[in-house]
Amino acid sequence: MERPNAWKGYGDDQLADLNRICEDYKSFISDNKTERECCAAAVELARAAGYEDLEERIASGAPLSAGDKVYAVNRGKTLMLVHLGTSPLTEGVNILGAHIDSPRLDVKQDPVDEKNELVTLDTHYYGGIKKYQWVAMPLAIHGVVAKKDGSVVNVVIGEKADDPVFCISDLLPHLGAQQMSKKATEVIEGEMLDVLVGNRPIVVDADAEKDEDAEKSPVKAGVLNILRDALGIEEEDLLSAELEVVPAGAARDLGLDRSMILGYGQDDRVCAYTSLVAQLECEAPARTAVTLLVDKEEIGSVGATGMTSNFFENVMAEVLELAGEHGALALRRCLARSNMLSSDVSAGFDPAFASVFEPKNSCYLGHGLTFNKFTGSRGKGGSNDADAEYIATIRRVMDEGGVAWQTAELGKVDAGGGGTIAYILAVYGMNVIDCGVPVLSMHAPWEATSKADVYEAYRGYRAFLKLA
Ligand code: MN
Ligand code: MN
Repeated sequence: MERPNAWKGYGDDQLADLNRICEDYKSFISDNKTERECCAAAVELARAAGYEDLEERIASGAPLSAGDKVYAVNRGKTLMLVHLGTSPLTEGVNILGAHIDSPRLDVKQDPVDEKNELVTLDTHYYGGIKKYQWVAMPLAIHGVVAKKDGSVVNVVIGEKADDPVFCISDLLPHLGAQQMSKKATEVIEGEMLDVLVGNRPIVVDADAEKDEDAEKSPVKAGVLNILRDALGIEEEDLLSAELEVVPAGAARDLGLDRSMILGYGQDDRVCAYTSLVAQLECEAPARTAVTLLVDKEEIGSVGATGMTSNFFENVMAEVLELAGEHGALALRRCLARSNMLSSDVSAGFDPAFASVFEPKNSCYLGHGLTFNKFTGSRGKGGSNDADAEYIATIRRVMDEGGVAWQTAELGKVDAGGGGTIAYILAVYGMNVIDCGVPVLSMHAPWEATSKADVYEAYRGYRAFLKLA
């Protein structure tokens, strides 16, 4: 069953629309590389589109009715958008879900180290990475430092053209014979992911008061002076910081034909951004439209901001209450009768690594939004296995919307596998299917997508939100 290449079907108007979405998408993922940054930027876009803070609505007690748009934020890292439809909530809602955390290196709580006048920050990687890919490339630091006085300092260093960047050193090939004979998992080990941040010692004035720390670690003293002067933080403040080391620089067009995008963290911002735009552009839905942008997917959807927290359910309960649909049973009915697209990236077929794919059941760059009946590994383990009936509904909705789409599983049987947030929502008994955008080099510092697939994801999400 051949699925057509989406590029072949575009007229001038669609190409203009495709370029609009992809240019905005590139800016969004270039400017917003962490879950906090994505959440804040999405709130700003939502407010501009007429969304109100649900907390304010709860405080005022003003009821919610068809056409009302509200958002809820969880710890600045997870966002939920709700656009009320004309149908009762107890008949179910349409949900788009994607995650806004991406693989990266997190700075440790006590990170600063000086050895041989090189100062580094110790890191602990987040999510599934090939560690050897993160060395010898420009890196940026994004995050927050929370101080004891309650203030929070935002940090973004390494993105502006005149910013300094950071790197992790690698061994020169001349001395790398032993390293190169190691297994790829051992070439660079976790504790070797130390980010280089300084090499210039401070000069201690002979008349100055004796400072043993500065004498012992003069380069570190210089780095700490800069943190103090530029950001107003002390070394101790790093104990309560969340600093994420990510590839420095903007997402770019990929290829002579500019048909693709090379960018950091397209897993899963490509689905998150297109879901967000589809939600914001949704007009007068029949069923209530909901978009969930969640954190912690890459480490198992755990914690207060991961999908397994009660945030989603709690917000739905608040929305039902304000919409005059009271009680626990109304919430249960709403959730059980809902539809969801659990969006996460898929492994695009890569001829360079053809042996791990089954060609018929693979997704191809440029062939559109990809639906995965199931994910998981070792006999579908850990997956949400979508109903045939729900898939038939999705086929109808996508075909009626003229969306280019395809189906796939993540690689050959027993080649490996992966999980998403789908099974967590399926617990409520709602319809859930995995879908997303094909990616090459998934989880590498720079991941590749097709602009046609970015566009078809956006169009597919728009079509889904019209599902009555
Ligand atoms: Mn993902
Ligand atoms: Mn991932």
